[in-house]
Amino acid sequence: MDVFTNQKRTKKTCVVTGGAGFLGSHLTDRLLAAGYRVVGIDNLLTGNVRNIEHLAGNADYRFIEHDVTNFIYLPGEVDFVFHFASPASPIDYLEYPIPTLKVGAHGTHNTLGLAKSKGATYLIASTSEVYGDPLVHPQTEDYWGNVNPIGPRGVYDEAKRFAEAMTMAYHRFHRLDTKIVRIFNTYGPRMRLEDGRVVPAFIGQALEGKPLTVFGDGSQTRSFCFVSDLIEGIFRLAHSDCHDPVNIGNPNEMTIKQFGEAIIAKTGTDSQMDFRPLPVDDPQVRQPDISKAKALLDWQPKVTFDEGIAETIRYFKSFLSAR
Ligand code: UDP
Repeated sequence: MDVFTNQKRTKKTCVVTGGAGFLGSHLTDRLLAAGYRVVGIDNLLTGNVRNIEHLAGNADYRFIEHDVTNFIYLPGEVDFVFHFASPASPIDYLEYPIPTLKVGAHGTHNTLGLAKSKGATYLIASTSEVYGDPLVHPQTEDYWGNVNPIGPRGVYDEAKRFAEAMTMAYHRFHRLDTKIVRIFNTYGPRMRLEDGRVVPAFIGQALEGKPLTVFGDGSQTRSFCFVSDLIEGIFRLAHSDCHDPVNIGNPNEMTIKQFGEAIIAKTGTDSQMDFRPLPVDDPQVRQPDISKAKALLDWQPKVTFDEGIAETIRYFKSFLSAR
């Protein structure tokens, strides 16, 4: 028995948890384009079937609605497991603190167990949040981070840190072929308009002529990577023999105020900035050091900020006009 019943097994099979999410759905498209079959698993807590509706009828794709904090039963062979399920925006993990901890802990354990039982390669979506409010800048993979375990962001940061520890334990103890990607701020089509992250928040506000909600004085920095670049880096990492964590992101750093100014200019809105209190433990700076990805994966981002933002604005414009 196989999830792809009555089909000859000529193609490799990938499992993507969080398959209906922003990154999971883009990763799925990349894997299908590479000639793999994909089983998407998602409990739709923050994912949305809209992100995968274009795959309806695709013989190489299956979707299973399931919460991976519970045991995962999947018949047939599996070659890759990609664990991308998790609430991922600060307001999402503040709203769902316990599911966030559980998917990072039990979800990681269950997906590792699935990979082990199938002899599959495993890749976990980790995050720049493992560096917390970093005291080393830009962040290199050998930096251990500055994380408040009991603050509101701790549910995400510590879940991902635990997930990395669990992944390395399966690698060392069970000799599982594992990879860890530390994902820095990524943006693009299929982000949720209301997920609270700065990219959809500012674009949505600008397009609706509302004030841009800048937290703090806007001097904190982020470095934004377009989704297609991130997915290409992850695809290469999955096929590499690199078991230690690798940063994937775009080092193009800017302040949040500069980012707001760019969105105002690019949307042509007359929106102003509305300064609000800075959330607790909001990192002051963030920028990936991508030397490792360049050297080991021959990867670096290609999409410019102007190109990526233009495409993202187009996406949100058509999303808003269809509402
Ligand atoms: N931010 C903001 N206004 C918003 C949403 C976010 O000024 O409406 C700021 C937030 O405080 C942070 C940065 O933008 O400094 C990036 O926030 P985001 O939620 O996108 O992700 P983070 O990088 O904090 O995980």
